[in-house]
Amino acid sequence: MNLDSWLSEYTEKGLLRELTPVVRESDGRLFASNRSSGPLYDFSSNDYLALATSPELLAKSKEFLETNGCGAGAARLMSGDLAIYHLLEEEVAKLKGQESALLFGSGYMANCGIIPALVGRNDIVFADRLNHASLYDGCHLSRAEIFRFRHNDMNHLEELLYKKKGEKTALVVVESLYSMDGDRCPLRDLISLKNRFGFMLMVDEAHATGVYGRCGGGIIEEEGMAEHVDIAMGTFGKALGSYGAYAAGTKQLIKLLINRARTFIYSTGLPPAVIGASLAAVRIVSRDDTLRKELFEKVGIFKTALSEAGLENLGLSQIIPIMIGNSKKAVKIADYLRKKGVFATAVRPPTVPEGSARLRFSITRHLEENELLFAARQLIEAIGALS
Ligand SMILES: *Cc1c(COP(=O)(O)O)cnc(C)c1O
Repeated sequence: MNLDSWLSEYTEKGLLRELTPVVRESDGRLFASNRSSGPLYDFSSNDYLALATSPELLAKSKEFLETNGCGAGAARLMSGDLAIYHLLEEEVAKLKGQESALLFGSGYMANCGIIPALVGRNDIVFADRLNHASLYDGCHLSRAEIFRFRHNDMNHLEELLYKKKGEKTALVVVESLYSMDGDRCPLRDLISLKNRFGFMLMVDEAHATGVYGRCGGGIIEEEGMAEHVDIAMGTFGKALGSYGAYAAGTKQLIKLLINRARTFIYSTGLPPAVIGASLAAVRIVSRDDTLRKELFEKVGIFKTALSEAGLENLGLSQIIPIMIGNSKKAVKIADYLRKKGVFATAVRPPTVPEGSARLRFSITRHLEENELLFAARQLIEAIGALS
């Protein structure tokens, strides 16, 4: 690969991504790291419940840091299997309504470990076309044959299942809440297909854990479907304000993952401070619904302001995609907003399909009513000024 031509091609097409160092204050606002600008209202964070700076998380994190040290020192199958991992795993299993759970270093590592542990060269995977990159990478690593079905299209999935009926071990992989579109998978319809075709069902709840369900167990909990989901995966890095990930399922599933998931086996256990934060977060979200109610009040304020200005298809979740289409235009709008103090990301291919560049607004509990209304106004102005 020629670096110069690669770079100019990416710049030309508006695809070049660049890092933007920031300092985040405890109220969730961002400043440029050299303080040359700011504050920025952060509409790009997945810290939906504003738990990353919660005193309860900080306290538990410090406690575990002081009692267990900075690092685990080894992989868990060596001498690194700290008792605190098991404490968190038990609480996560309960949160997810499953028998057992296993921690992974991150959501990316979880998906790259779980899928190849379950299926191999002679098996088949059916994946929603809009699945997260980590799910795709997991599928590719498994060497199974991959069939992508049209986003949320159960007729298409059924067609594919029918064609491949009874041949090999089949896994269906979906997200419960899609990270770039903010829409849900049709979980009930998937489960009726599962009952007919008998596949394994894996649901990634990265953006739903903590945000949905009466106890924060995600959309699987909200829809009462825990017993029908074979592998419930999710992360601690988003609404739970910490880092790392989990897989939850039957005791047998977890035994299999301990023995076969390479990203679990060949990697050091998570740092104790991270486990403390995750444990406190799981306790907070399962204790009461207040944080979720507060979040969705804010979501309502932002959406109402946008729909009054004529913007449509804003969905029902805390993730609000504003479709722009052209990548360069999406970047221009994002730059315009940033100058006004609003940080929203332009999401471009290859993260989303060609021609569907968008601005992705995620709402967090940090955002105040006046900030939400300000951002909505700026967005509407930007769309008007730049089209
Ligand atoms: C963010 C995300 C991941 C990766 O999780 P990390 O903990 O950030 O590595 C996996 N799946 C989905 C659907 C995600 O949105």
